[in-house]
Amino acid sequence: MLIYYGVLTAVFGLVFGSFLNCTAMRIARGEDFVKGRSHCMSCSHELSAADLIPVLSYLFHRGRCKYCGAKVSIRYPITELSFMALSLGLYMGIFDISLGAVISFFKYWFLTGCLFVIALTDLENFEIPDGALITGAISWLIFTAAELVLGIHDIKWVLHHLLAGLLVGGVMLLISLVMDKVLGRDSMGGGDIKLFSLLGLYLGYAGTYELVILSCIVGLLFAGARKVLSKPATKEFPFGPSIALSGYLLLIFGDMLTNWYFGFFM
Ligand SMILES: [Zn+2]
Repeated sequence: MLIYYGVLTAVFGLVFGSFLNCTAMRIARGEDFVKGRSHCMSCSHELSAADLIPVLSYLFHRGRCKYCGAKVSIRYPITELSFMALSLGLYMGIFDISLGAVISFFKYWFLTGCLFVIALTDLENFEIPDGALITGAISWLIFTAAELVLGIHDIKWVLHHLLAGLLVGGVMLLISLVMDKVLGRDSMGGGDIKLFSLLGLYLGYAGTYELVILSCIVGLLFAGARKVLSKPATKEFPFGPSIALSGYLLLIFGDMLTNWYFGFFM
């Protein structure tokens, strides 16, 4: 039974990943992503449903457009497989046959989708789209309302998470203002601060505290790897992907980390 759901998660992960990648590309390139249909980037030929099967279409046509023969970016299969892996990670980390766990899974899966778009857009365009942040916040409200009605969480839990989101936003804003003064240039973008706030809603106090630390570690590793592997064209550094990845990891391992941490000191 669990394997059956796992296969479903993988398939939906691929399809959802394909949609999220296209959404991120359209946001980053300023295209209308509600109206426009999927088309080849070089010949603009509209793509049919059969051309849009994740990974398989790419492999079947050997990475080329079947209409004009132009190379199709490897970005498509890579993002599709990445989102499949993220979905499976979430599935193996938290899925369980209980109502609470099923709701958590979908709540976190939606958030992971928003984080994925945020990371891709920030990597391409150094910008974190408000739309993805707002979608993540609305999704939190809807799922949390359901959990409240079903008695999975109480109102105190909800208020604590709201406060965690507000607090981390405020603290990061202060830190960034101080760093701007010290460094004499923009340190953290407004989008990064809003992203911390969004994740605060999901992670609560302990998780948010871990998020700030883990994001800095991942960010430093990422910056180091970027320096070694390629000569960055700009001084600008996208912090969003590091925050998003850290948030994702804490959705799965946050409780474990908190228990370990407090077990250590008490
Ligand atoms: Zn083409």
